Amino acid sequence: MGDAARRNVALFGPAGSGKGTQAEFLNRELGVEHIATGEMLREERSRGTELGQALAAYLDAGKLVPDEVIVAMIRHRLSDPQADNGFVLDGFPRTLAQARSLQELLVGLQRPLDIAVVLDVPSEQLVARLSRRATLEDRGDDTPAVIAERLRIYHDETEPVLDYLSQSVPMVRLDGSMPVDEVGQMLLKAIA
Ligand code: ADP
Repeated sequence: MGDAARRNVALFGPAGSGKGTQAEFLNRELGVEHIATGEMLREERSRGTELGQALAAYLDAGKLVPDEVIVAMIRHRLSDPQADNGFVLDGFPRTLAQARSLQELLVGLQRPLDIAVVLDVPSEQLVARLSRRATLEDRGDDTPAVIAERLRIYHDETEPVLDYLSQSVPMVRLDGSMPVDEVGQMLLKAIA
């Protein structure tokens, strides 16, 4: 499976749609670098750095951290040789400003995005999945009020990114309400 034509992938979908799970799957199947901004932010926070402390309030409230912060982190990861073999973006870009920065950055690196994949899941199912996750993992942002805020932000800030990117990047929508393995197989076919 090492020869997928499209190796630079951006995964989209609201909180709970399965982006992290499917990005991990692509990492295992294709060896592409999994770049998960939420994970990066949580790691920074747990290191207790000054930046990490500043991020905590955003993460707990389900608010987006400032574009400059996230773009600087992404620039670092995308420029790394680890991304030479391809990458899957999970959780970025989430705003139009981030999407524009990404496009600029990738042009500079000569690593254009090959495809954007959107995982569609009805909101009732998202809320059920995230509430279940709250009891399994210690994610302080999986409370009902914060879940609602994250879904609202996806709708208001991230859906416009899809319109913007679809002007220059092929885009595929998958039914993310299907079982994990089936979504994985659809995803492999979509990027093959
Ligand atoms: P989910 O997709 O389930 O909301 P993530 O782990 O992707 O979970 O993100 C968790 C939190 O990290 C977000 O609610 C937000 O506070 C922050 N975050 C992640 N990615 C970005 C980004 N690209 N821009 C701004 N904030 C982000």
